[in-house]
Amino acid sequence: MGYRKRDRKPYKMKSKIDYPGLGYPCELIQNKGKNVSLSVYPNNRIVIRYPKSVSFKFILEFLEERKSWVKERYNKNKTHNPKRTEFNDGEILPIFGVHRKISYSVSEKTKLTENLFILNIKGLRSEQGRTKRALKFLKEELENRSIPVIEKKIAEIGTKRYSFTIKSMRSLWGSCSPRNKITLNLALIFCPEFVLRYVILHEVSHTKEHNHSKKFWSLLESLDPDYEIAEKWIKTNGQKILCYLF
Ligand SMILES: [Zn+2]
Repeated sequence: MGYRKRDRKPYKMKSKIDYPGLGYPCELIQNKGKNVSLSVYPNNRIVIRYPKSVSFKFILEFLEERKSWVKERYNKNKTHNPKRTEFNDGEILPIFGVHRKISYSVSEKTKLTENLFILNIKGLRSEQGRTKRALKFLKEELENRSIPVIEKKIAEIGTKRYSFTIKSMRSLWGSCSPRNKITLNLALIFCPEFVLRYVILHEVSHTKEHNHSKKFWSLLESLDPDYEIAEKWIKTNGQKILCYLF
């Protein structure tokens, strides 16, 4: 495993190991939290997160103890779920619901065309840097597509105050706080426009009706008569789409 006793924090340099006794790839991520946590994502990405203070030996023991749980989860997961994207050159992703091929460039600006996602990689060396740049661009694109719809519909239904943000979420596509803070899931960058529109209108409706009452659904229906089609789409494809991000 390349671990030498005299290295104080050897695992810091090694972000991926084979899961002890199983051989599955396992990512090690140091974070600012206080606890050690282990996740097996639906696409079988295995991640252990740990604070600075724990030793590599502790991590190995932690993994060893959870071996059978991990194995069970791993075998239960559907193997056809997509891997977390690293925005590799040539990779095809459903960007805003359209299958677009990623095409690296050092001279062209980062942009979406009818069937390409041109990613300017000038000055980037690592895979993380590319992912960061790609997601930053797509997040802005999502924002640009969302804001006009939100503003128009908010005005239409007469909500006075609201705010808007985008972040990665593992279980929600959108949310609306009691103070009308609308949050959209970044994973919507991989969904068709009608799904994005539905999630926006769902949350916009919550700025008037903070519940799922009859009144809420009829308000939503008045804004988006086809909302059930989008809901069905999310039910069928949602988990798969989330795999691109996590
Ligand atoms: Zn809702």
